[in-house]
Amino acid sequence: MLVASCSGGSDSGKAGADGVGDPLFPRLGNGGYDVQHYGLTLDYEPEGNHLHATAVITSRATQDLDAFNLDLKGMRVRSARVDGKPAGTSRKGTELTVTPGATVGKGREFQTVVVYEGVPKEITDADGESVEGWVETDGGAAALGEPTGSMAWFPGNHHPSDKATYDIAVTVPKGYTAVANGELKREEVRGDRATFSWHSAEPMASYLASVVVNEFKVTTTKAGDLPVYVATHPDEAAAGPKMAELLPRAIEWASGLFGPYPFSSAGAVIDHNPYVDYALETQTKPYFDEAPTDAIVVHEVVHQWFGNSVTPRTWRDMWLSESFAQYAEWMWEEKHGGRSAQHIFDDFYDGKDPESEGIWAFPPADPTPETISDPPVYGRGAMLLHELRRGVGDDAFFAIARQWVADHRYGNGDTAEFIALCERKSGRDLGELFDKWLRSEGKPRR
Ligand SMILES: [Zn+2]
Repeated sequence: MLVASCSGGSDSGKAGADGVGDPLFPRLGNGGYDVQHYGLTLDYEPEGNHLHATAVITSRATQDLDAFNLDLKGMRVRSARVDGKPAGTSRKGTELTVTPGATVGKGREFQTVVVYEGVPKEITDADGESVEGWVETDGGAAALGEPTGSMAWFPGNHHPSDKATYDIAVTVPKGYTAVANGELKREEVRGDRATFSWHSAEPMASYLASVVVNEFKVTTTKAGDLPVYVATHPDEAAAGPKMAELLPRAIEWASGLFGPYPFSSAGAVIDHNPYVDYALETQTKPYFDEAPTDAIVVHEVVHQWFGNSVTPRTWRDMWLSESFAQYAEWMWEEKHGGRSAQHIFDDFYDGKDPESEGIWAFPPADPTPETISDPPVYGRGAMLLHELRRGVGDDAFFAIARQWVADHRYGNGDTAEFIALCERKSGRDLGELFDKWLRSEGKPRR
């Protein structure tokens, strides 16, 4: 059934805003409500790359709402209902405006159901190079959401500041495996179709939500009490057992530095994907486009603390996640007989490490949509953490890291809050250090 699709946004002043005012991506996310839970039911046909889907979105109104927006790119909306009653919908660019039959009062919890279908889009990033969104792969698909890609496969409040819990059920042809975040609660085969039902009990930013479909081989193990699920593409078969051995070690090591692992499960997806050339820290199961190096695995594991449990409040704060993930690679190398963190810092400073190329292009706290995934956010951010550690000493540095993770667990944190915590924990004025490494143009003097 197709419910009215012509009513636009309201003029009464009770419409939710069409963005949350992110400094880099102002139209991402929407105002007027706070999502609590997404229930996504996807029926995917790899042949033709076609998706039939229903999104059940439970939200709390933060103002009176007689219309509100969801972010959705492409797809055809078949119907929308709010609290069981038909609602109007209209589309403009990536904004889907939903107009309930009656105003939703401020403070109320309400449920929006959107039925939609189509061929989900691959999105080319602002840098013109990487792709995200729904990426069709050889024999399957990978949904990758950083920074704006999740709107390609489900309607939502797609800004990292609105985190929610998720249930994602994916039906695919029998023989395929559909992997999503959290724990596999059910796997059901009916005729020639198989349904994989995944549950994420801990809040997740939508850019970390993921579905990956292919004819994977699955390896399960444990990291302490934590269930670990590794899905491996047959062309990368040797990487599966290696990952199952490395993940528990990396998780134990990182837990020792940063405090308990934040989620109910862990794992990885090792794909064989010629269309993307990056790994992503998708929550509980980082995504690897191919068999990764140990350093990349450690990077994505440490993101579970920095980025996933504690999520940047805006995209300008992304250095807060990437600096810790990259610095963890340096510490791991030091611990495993490679260069010391100081040696790597020096190699970055002197331009001797290949990853240091371009790190002085802009200050890490000032990326643009085009440069958000560029080296200053990563390498120079890690250099800042190393200088912070040298300045305040190991005890204060790791106390800061653990406190940051504890204070903002399952929530968001921003640059000003991080600097305030560093000064509080160390008892020092760190303005000069942060100005030098975080905010100044060009290569800082040592
Ligand atoms: Zn990263």
